[in-house]
Amino acid sequence: MSQRIKIAIQKSGRLSEDSIALFKECGIKLDMGKGRLKSESSNFPAEFLFLRDDDIPGYVEDGVADLGIVGENVLIESEKDVNTVKKLGFSKCRLSIAIPREIDYTGPEFLNGKSIATSYPKLLSAYLKENNLSAEIHEISGSVEIAPSIGLADAVCDIVSSGSTLLSNGLKEVQKIFKSEAVLIGNKNLNAELSSILDKILFRINAVQKAQDNKYILLNAPNDKLEQIINIISGMKSPTVMPLAIEGWSSVHSVLEENEFWEKIEALRAAGAQGILVIPIEKMIL
Ligand code: ATP
Ligand code: ZN
Repeated sequence: MSQRIKIAIQKSGRLSEDSIALFKECGIKLDMGKGRLKSESSNFPAEFLFLRDDDIPGYVEDGVADLGIVGENVLIESEKDVNTVKKLGFSKCRLSIAIPREIDYTGPEFLNGKSIATSYPKLLSAYLKENNLSAEIHEISGSVEIAPSIGLADAVCDIVSSGSTLLSNGLKEVQKIFKSEAVLIGNKNLNAELSSILDKILFRINAVQKAQDNKYILLNAPNDKLEQIINIISGMKSPTVMPLAIEGWSSVHSVLEENEFWEKIEALRAAGAQGILVIPIEKMIL
């Protein structure tokens, strides 16, 4: 009998939507009915388990799930023994230390002898140790940001993305200690059949990610500037060049990477390119 790979994703929270979107973009259908704990894909050998994010590393280590998606913060804090298969580029955030706004922060030594409230005692204690600091760690499981105002701690160590939660609690971010994003994790002992299903998933994720990092570009170029323009955008192989109906002009098609995109567009305009169209790419297979 052929196997299904079991994939644990967060049931509801900051990872859920992007995790589901990722599998959809990979052409893997998943039906997340209300209140369901698991669901089989109708077009791919996968079964999805909907769990709290904190439980995912443990289930993947034990083999209850073969794969899972969690934040690196939760993964490291869990100290579970799993493979980090791939960084996924979403749910980016940082773990930071914050203190009441009116207090001066003099540098990491400020933390010596202070008490810090956090839900991430292991990541925090690793940071303190690395920096030869000694502070008391108060582990609490939620609403960490109110700890200073109720006199429970001098500082907090918590997840920050925009900083607005800190601000509304009278705190300021003073020290970043860890950067996190969502990662795909895998059990360390997948059998051959499950490994080959994982390879298929990775192939698709790579195609989706590559496509997101690139744009398709079409432009018109006067033939006497063609060489210069082609030099600016020699994409995947060489660009496609086709004559336009108007004498002396060509249409040039290529692929540009997102991170060099605006620079190249400016150079192309300066070189005489006109009618530049930029189109998103859905999948990219190299
Ligand atoms: P659960 O009910 O599953 O235990 P939770 O409340 O612990 O959920 P969420 O708040 O949904 O967790 O956050 C899940 C993960 O998303 C975090 O562990 C972190 O990696 C990331 N994350 C947290 N806050 C943000 C944010 N503001 N922006 C982006 N990513 C975030
Ligand atoms: Zn959680």
